[in-house]
Amino acid sequence: MGQLRAEISDYARRMAADGLVVGTSGNVSARRGDLVAVTPTGVDYAALGAADIPVVSLDGTVVHGALKPTSELPMHLALYRTAADPDGAPITAVVHTHALHATAVSTLVDEVPAVHYAGALIGPSVRVAPYATYGTEELAESMLGALAGRRGCLLANHGTITFGSSLADAYGRTRQLEWLCQVWLTARAAGTPRLLPPEEIERVVAKLRGYGQKG
Ligand code: 13P
Ligand code: ZN
Repeated sequence: MGQLRAEISDYARRMAADGLVVGTSGNVSARRGDLVAVTPTGVDYAALGAADIPVVSLDGTVVHGALKPTSELPMHLALYRTAADPDGAPITAVVHTHALHATAVSTLVDEVPAVHYAGALIGPSVRVAPYATYGTEELAESMLGALAGRRGCLLANHGTITFGSSLADAYGRTRQLEWLCQVWLTARAAGTPRLLPPEEIERVVAKLRGYGQKG
């Protein structure tokens, strides 16, 4: 798990450097087999090293590390235990942030308006999970509902959560989601954005399966 713990602390620092979180907000995890490496709760990312990353089992028991795991363990574990990627890929990484534009949008709508096809990287639409207090099973349940058939969602009046089959995938989705929210807020401030119809988004969802160097 040493390599994985180092990757978690790298991504946590990157999340802060990229401006996706302020202070100790946000959390990152990755799964190997039946173990999950996850950021500790309330620890300054600048000082974080691989040895500070707790490792937990799928029931939340700490098996390595001296620090307490993130308060959002219920969301991370719910994803590893019960959620499925829409294309059947394994879920092995989760990223939660309080990214500025995404959090602002989470206070305005129930679904991110389809202003750009990049939303299809997450799902046919990006839903907003109804608000629940941070760190609760209730928030994890609300998140699971919003994530059905998707790879990410907004958490109302809170932030973002995305998953992937690598930290790079999960992190990249968070950055695309934040960018999408920024596009909508920018366009909306200037006028009434034109939206893409659902059938076009479905077409892009299918086309993206062959995007890039795949196959
Ligand atoms: P932790 O420091 O416990 O990870 O909490 C940050 C957070 O974003 C809670 O929603
Ligand atoms: Zn949070």
